Amino acid sequence: MKTLTVKVSRFDPERDEKPRFETYTVEVNEGARVLNVLHAIHDEEDPTLAYRYCCASGQCGSCAVRVNGVPVLACMEEARDGMTIEPLNLPVQRDLVVDISPLITSLHPLEPGEECRMPPAETVNALKPLRSCIECLACVSVCPAVEVAKFAGPTAMRQEMRLALDPRDMRDRTTQAVEEGLFTCTSCQACWKACPKEIEIPGKAIEKLRALAHKKGFSLPRHLEVAKMIEKTGRSVSRTEPTFFERIEADVFEPYCEAKATVGFFIGCMYSHRLPQTALDAVEVLRRNGIRVVIPREQVCCGSPLIRTGQLGLLEMLQRRNIEAFATRGIGTVVTMCAGCGATLKKDYPSTPFVVKDINELLDEYGIEAPERLPMVATYHDPCHLLRGQGVSEEPRRLLSKVVRLVEMPAVCCGSGGGVKSGFPDEANALGEKRRKEIEKTGAELVITSCPFCEFHIREHTDLPVKHVVSLLLEGYREKDRKRNETCPSA
Ligand code: SF4
Ligand code: SF4
Repeated sequence: MKTLTVKVSRFDPERDEKPRFETYTVEVNEGARVLNVLHAIHDEEDPTLAYRYCCASGQCGSCAVRVNGVPVLACMEEARDGMTIEPLNLPVQRDLVVDISPLITSLHPLEPGEECRMPPAETVNALKPLRSCIECLACVSVCPAVEVAKFAGPTAMRQEMRLALDPRDMRDRTTQAVEEGLFTCTSCQACWKACPKEIEIPGKAIEKLRALAHKKGFSLPRHLEVAKMIEKTGRSVSRTEPTFFERIEADVFEPYCEAKATVGFFIGCMYSHRLPQTALDAVEVLRRNGIRVVIPREQVCCGSPLIRTGQLGLLEMLQRRNIEAFATRGIGTVVTMCAGCGATLKKDYPSTPFVVKDINELLDEYGIEAPERLPMVATYHDPCHLLRGQGVSEEPRRLLSKVVRLVEMPAVCCGSGGGVKSGFPDEANALGEKRRKEIEKTGAELVITSCPFCEFHIREHTDLPVKHVVSLLLEGYREKDRKRNETCPSA
């Protein structure tokens, strides 16, 4: 047996104005789950505690709660001392019980036609992951788009794709999904990471539905413009100043000290055409840390804006051009500083003759020269396509903590991804405002991130400086050089 002390959110709508926490200490068996703790509180401490469960074996989804802020199934999650147990982020009926009925009843059932065609094996395989949903609504509870847009939510999109694939179903599910807000999803992937059945809703349902919607002519005008721009220029955005490529005079940059490695640098459209100085900062930081940087000028858009919006026509051409650009130079490692490009190169390219690394991963792996510490407090915004898309979260924090004091805020979407900033600016702004409030709560003096879309969007919602990790590292190096020159003016 072991003794655990836990905090549980309590709320009685007839008595309480808002939820409050109660602390309980209970005895449970070794290996007990969160559900065992709730049973123990209910049986031994307070029989009025309301929570929901049924199968107690991860099959029914009814016991979903948040533990330390993360949605889990109470019956599957190991109980730990000091944990905080709250209801899902959905309308609370009482204590840990949320109102799931409106969302569950709005999920569309299969509507078979008169002629019932059985799905071929290939379709059955595509359907399988979408069918394993246990309707726990953990995905909906973390979806940023649901909170600010007219969006039926991730599990509704999963169900629409499931039905769209099923030849027995007679309804036009693509049109239905568009009406339910298909294009308001920011591609943040929070739903996928929260799902106890690991259903990849953004990639397996939403992007697939968007591709079907594109074929039916539902693409948003702004998204079509982006595709046209890529077709015409190879880039997804127009230039607002001399581009990165116009500002560099060579294609190969030697390191300032003994070479540890040679990498190809994938710049990305935003860092090339809108934020070229940040990309130049990255080259400086790489060279200072012994990395030889090769920058093929033939590289083009990675294709991410097209994949996320369902416009796949140009994708193969972009993939081929990018792979050739680095492969013909014999590059073994391609580094990128854009979260979206990195996730796309790693996951959406069929196979590449090189390894792809985010710049934070690379610098953390090789180790960096210590920069001067700057007397500043910074907060780090996790880009969705770096945190969830590539699993990179500790690396930028380790780098940043060498330069500034870091204060944390919750890792939520800023609203700039998935084509939402161009397609639904009101939604993007509402999410940007939520981000501003979280940033303000930290008391930080600057915001650091590692994605140009986040950098651009957050700048519109805060007066604080917003920078990429590499720009802050470079500031630390410049300060170090300045102090060294002061101490030793002839150096
Ligand atoms: S990817 Fe993000 S915005 Fe899209 S459905 Fe999932 S949680 Fe919602
Ligand atoms: S998709 Fe996953 S998280 Fe969403 S309701 Fe189904 S099982 Fe739960």
